[in-house]
Amino acid sequence: SITTAPLLDFAQRHVTKGLNHLTEDVMVKGEGSWVTMQSGRKLLDFTCGIGVTNLGHCHPKVSKAAADQCLNLVHGQCSIAYHEPYLRLIERLLPIMPHPSLDSFYFVNSGSEAVEGALKMVRGITRKQNIITMQGAYHGRTFGAMAITKSKTVYAHGFAPLMPGVVTAPFPYWHHFNAEPGVNETELVNASLYQVELLLSQQTAPTDTAAIIIEPVLGEGGYVPAPPAFLQGLRTICDKHGLLLIIDEVQSGFGRTGRMFSIEYSGVRPDIMVIAKGLANGFPLSAVVSTKELTDKLKPGTMGGTYAGNAVSCAAAIAVADAFKEENILDNVKARSTELFRELKALEADSTVGQHILEVRGQGLMVAVEFASPSHSTFDPVIKKDTTANLAMKVSKRCLEKGMLLLTTSVYETVRFIPPLNISAKDLARGIAIFKEAVEEVVG
Ligand code: PMP
Repeated sequence: SITTAPLLDFAQRHVTKGLNHLTEDVMVKGEGSWVTMQSGRKLLDFTCGIGVTNLGHCHPKVSKAAADQCLNLVHGQCSIAYHEPYLRLIERLLPIMPHPSLDSFYFVNSGSEAVEGALKMVRGITRKQNIITMQGAYHGRTFGAMAITKSKTVYAHGFAPLMPGVVTAPFPYWHHFNAEPGVNETELVNASLYQVELLLSQQTAPTDTAAIIIEPVLGEGGYVPAPPAFLQGLRTICDKHGLLLIIDEVQSGFGRTGRMFSIEYSGVRPDIMVIAKGLANGFPLSAVVSTKELTDKLKPGTMGGTYAGNAVSCAAAIAVADAFKEENILDNVKARSTELFRELKALEADSTVGQHILEVRGQGLMVAVEFASPSHSTFDPVIKKDTTANLAMKVSKRCLEKGMLLLTTSVYETVRFIPPLNISAKDLARGIAIFKEAVEEVVG
């Protein structure tokens, strides 16, 4: 039998160094909110594979739908023929779209690929080149997506030249304005919208600008929900200047924030919405959703992809959509989110540990805790972080030792909670208890 040690040697020898790992143990099984590692350890999964296995690992109905589809048709190929799961999935998605105008679908395999599709669409349709993206944004690792990603320099460093025509606007997160948590939100929103207007008169003329792209909750940039007034302001700017608005719901979509899509909190109509991750609960599938009016402007053959809209992934996604309804997933998100916020806010208010917590924020079960960096000589005044403290990373590592997977996010001292949307009250409480212990040990 293979033990963890030689397998790890094997992995280090043969798997690219370009990947990061939270743990060096090997994952062998997933069931609901738990994963089993080769070492025999069972870990509570508060990462969901970065917001993907939202209905837990190996959800029985999703796995069965995929298995059944495997015996029927694995690969249809979207440029050869429509296949039934592709069309049935659209039928399921239409009624849950955040706006009835979103009625035209294009399926691909990953978030990045869908972002590329959206970029290509807005350029092809408007015949304009420039894209306005947000400070702190993450949209993926492919060349177009990487060019509009602004959350960490590591993602683009050394890979230039990137896609040209990208202009970055401020996202109303207090860090971006060298402010403090609790700063007046309206002022942040107005300052950010003002900057977007300035960009359009100083850097990128509306007649050269195809679209604005934004995550309704900044994901890899720190789990920061966009204030509804900001999203509404962007919609107004887009309408005023003839720009398209792309909403990237790759991480925030599919119930993660307590609504089917986070954009619903603002009531804003996207011209294009990008979805992935939770859509098929682990099977590779993503989509660019738009309007028939827009996509009718595309020439046949300009979009496509060998594996795009794979039949097994589509069958899994149909089962996901059905499970959302049958299992009242959104009700569970709301109940568990209330418990999670209550406990984390109590920790923030704690007289000892609380002084190391700068902010608890998020929407639904997309929640972040940002720690306060102790300031000394290695303190970086721009990112307000003691570069040797690594509090968030230390808390994440301590959680792992105690039996829970918990990710960090952004260049700031932030950990993010992404538990399964159907997690039980008991498992959530277990995760919170592990987190509290870890925080007390690291900063206490
Ligand atoms: N957009 C957002 C908002 C994301 O969070 C991610 C992935 N973290 C992506 C796009 C890229 O998705 P993928 O990794 O599937 O290419």
